[in-house]
Amino acid sequence: MQGLMQDWPLLCHKILDHAARQHGEREVVTRTVEGAIARTTYGALASRSRKVASKLVQEGFGKGDRVATLGWNTARHLEVWYGAMGMGGVYHTLNPRLFPDQIAWIMNHAEDACLFVDLTFVQLAEKICPQVKTLRRIVIMTDSANMPETTLDAVAYEDWIADGDEAFAWESFEETTAAGMCYTSGTTGDPKGVVYSHRSNVLHAMMAVQPDAMGLSARDVVLPVVPMFHANAWGLAQSAPMVGAKLVMPGPRLDGEGLYEMLDSERVTFTAAVPTVWLMLLQYLEKTGKKLPHLRRVVIGGSACPRSMTQKFQDIYDVEVIHAWGMTEMSPLGSLCSLKPEYEDLEGEARLDIQDKQGHAPFGVEMRIVNDNGEELPWDGKTFGRLQVRGPAVSSSYYGGAGAEQFDEEGWFDTGDVAHIDRYGYLKITDRAKDVIKSGGEWISTIELENLAVGHPEVAEAAVIGVHHPKWDERPLLVVVKKEGCDPTREDLITFLSDKVAKWWLPDDVVFVDELPHTATGKIQKTTLRRQMEGYTLP
Ligand code: ADP
Repeated sequence: MQGLMQDWPLLCHKILDHAARQHGEREVVTRTVEGAIARTTYGALASRSRKVASKLVQEGFGKGDRVATLGWNTARHLEVWYGAMGMGGVYHTLNPRLFPDQIAWIMNHAEDACLFVDLTFVQLAEKICPQVKTLRRIVIMTDSANMPETTLDAVAYEDWIADGDEAFAWESFEETTAAGMCYTSGTTGDPKGVVYSHRSNVLHAMMAVQPDAMGLSARDVVLPVVPMFHANAWGLAQSAPMVGAKLVMPGPRLDGEGLYEMLDSERVTFTAAVPTVWLMLLQYLEKTGKKLPHLRRVVIGGSACPRSMTQKFQDIYDVEVIHAWGMTEMSPLGSLCSLKPEYEDLEGEARLDIQDKQGHAPFGVEMRIVNDNGEELPWDGKTFGRLQVRGPAVSSSYYGGAGAEQFDEEGWFDTGDVAHIDRYGYLKITDRAKDVIKSGGEWISTIELENLAVGHPEVAEAAVIGVHHPKWDERPLLVVVKKEGCDPTREDLITFLSDKVAKWWLPDDVVFVDELPHTATGKIQKTTLRRQMEGYTLP
């Protein structure tokens, strides 16, 4: 027997329509690339997105065409996303922090048909575009007054949409149609294309707004610091309009002071980003003595959130930290660390012990850990295994069929992460499979050592890599960037760690460097670091 309910396809542009109807006056505030603060509403944003859609159709673009963006988080960027999706096109966010040749490779692989580019990235686009033969239209996301001199055959966004049709009727199609693309950064091998569907994006947004996930509502003011080009701004471009939360788009200024200004002047209640961003904000607050009276929750993920960071946000600024884990391939949310009744009464260090974990999966994410033979391992909070996931917002394959070995016939996707899970379902990522240190047959978590090391008051940043050892195979090496004006010694750091981890986990040596290499999404780039340390031998 069939259910007798309506077939209402889950299409992303319905989210924007809902925001425009139910929360039409709610503001979307942008720090523009040109510098000024621009204010619009969901109502106006929806009309301008329809203009984008109508212009794309007018110019001969159609269903399935890839609409690439090289842009910061701004209202215009949102308009391009929703406009592209609403005419059946596929937004494709490009990470401007990658090398030009890498971006060109990705654009050719995706066969991008148009490119919307922010002023900041015009020079970058000049290097890339001649290499991309499928491009038929380039739009610079500004107005004619701010148009730069350029070798690109490009038009100014405001001129381009001026004669667009704000009454354009969205296209309708099956919910499994592609809505967006994002390539993983490809720290190993070529980048791989993740293709989101309308259905997966809508379901992911519903998952994200739940109270035990991001817990968003129309009363929230949301600042997505995490870029739209980093795994969809963790879904906030869809989940904020879904609930009618005010959006504050930070544009190009992601430094401590720039973020503080937006957090304060717009009375932001909720924000999300990787730890390196929060490090800058916390340093700015420490230096200036400023506080965060409006901010209530901060989601920290993308790499492990150091305990000292959670502690500072909560104890000094009274902001709740929600540690989260995810991947581009998961749209990206996999788990969030809200406290279940079993843990909610914990205080002090015991509470931080739980918050160090990446949390539990919302409905729509199934997870398990397995050993090298693919056998499932127990949820006992200590047995490590390879983490596998499946769900309606998890990739079923990569664009063009790359990386097929990561998907099995039962639908499990191998995340490449090593984790344990406790009896209440709390996940703890101990490492990426390729980073974990195997010492004498036992595993040492580099993430845990790094996070303890940055808890030292004189350490700015720390990374741990495995280096060859004749007896134990591999041993941990701690690589440290000192805080400005500080001069900790090797012995200081080893002593600092010695009552926090098992003796055999202690790094064999400490090396001090001026800076650590980072990936395009702000994570420490272990592959490069290992290469830099190649000539090093343990004492
Ligand atoms: P990229 O490699 O392009 O940065 P993602 O942003 O999709 O790709 O990164 C996903 C990976 O980031 C995860 O597989 C995991 O290794 C790591 N990660 C994400 N969140 C966390 C976290 N809270 N703690 C530890 N690692 C994390």
